[in-house]
Amino acid sequence: MEIFQVKHVIKWMEKSNDKIGQNKEYLTSLDQAIGDGDHGINMTRGFQEVVNKITSQDYETTADALKDVAMTLISKVGGASGPLYGTAFLKFSMAAKDQDLRYDIFVKGVEDACNGIKQRGKADAGEKTMLDVWCPVADQLKKKKQFHVDVISRTAKEAMENTKDMLATKGRASYMKERSIGHLDPGAVSSFYLFDALAEVIQEGA
Ligand code: ADP
Ligand code: MG
Repeated sequence: MEIFQVKHVIKWMEKSNDKIGQNKEYLTSLDQAIGDGDHGINMTRGFQEVVNKITSQDYETTADALKDVAMTLISKVGGASGPLYGTAFLKFSMAAKDQDLRYDIFVKGVEDACNGIKQRGKADAGEKTMLDVWCPVADQLKKKKQFHVDVISRTAKEAMENTKDMLATKGRASYMKERSIGHLDPGAVSSFYLFDALAEVIQEGA
């Protein structure tokens, strides 16, 4: 894949919505263990709204499509994750503004998204949040010159798994202190679904 286009954004969101929908109960159970149990509901509602929105109109640019993804997540998803994912896609759309989403711009988009989550959540990598997937993926993307399907899906999966042994110091899970250790972070798992969906879109190309 040379340029990530509007049709790819739509496929990306459809696949993300499918994966999140198929794993709604799982995301709920993860959030029940170290949070308040609403992550499955928040994410399924939000991404269904995203798909409804972006398949109901035409977009001239990827930046416009990504901006609508962001706005929908910010307005429709309750909980901490809505504004955080929304900020991520807003920064991504800003990186894509007025230019084709070639690999280097795509990488900047993911990097800016990661930094946006950091700012919005006043958090950093290593605190057992979604950042522990977004940041390692951004770091790996930066090391390459073109899309590598396996790098994206493998990095995201390993990064998600690594949150299990982390101590939560941000978000609701931080109230659990040491008892947060031994559980996957729900937002890291939903972020893995997003990147796994992205890898599939790139794999399929066209
Ligand atoms: P809430 O925590 O409000 O119930 P969700 O359950 O939908 O919202 O989302 C929880 C996820 O959000 C966590 O698993 C974590 O990945 C992410 N998260 C929470 N707080 C922060 C933060 N300050 N910075 C980054 N990510 C965060
Ligand atoms: Mg929750």
